[in-house]
Amino acid sequence: MKIKQIFQRLFGSNKGKPISPQGGMQADKSEMMQKVLTMLSNTQDVEMTCDEVFAVLDQFAELAAQGEDVTQLMPLIQQHLDLCEDCREEYKVLEKIILNTA
Ligand SMILES: [Zn+2]
Repeated sequence: MKIKQIFQRLFGSNKGKPISPQGGMQADKSEMMQKVLTMLSNTQDVEMTCDEVFAVLDQFAELAAQGEDVTQLMPLIQQHLDLCEDCREEYKVLEKIILNTA
């Protein structure tokens, strides 16, 4: 999930909101930042980035190949794989390699 998409998700619905020309934008901006910061600090609602997933994906694939319950062990990775096609492809490649060398 890219930050841009997070912004779109958070603020996309506010498009029609009128912005007063004097100081209104400034207030809106800090309100926006507050929302983003709140969201980013709430890790349960934030998907991991592809970089973060790539960093642990080989471990994840290995555990999965060993029959571990990765959905329980690494729920955020599983969640990301469900949403991100790029990482899912990468995971499939890793899984194949692991299964072939096992
Ligand atoms: Zn990804």
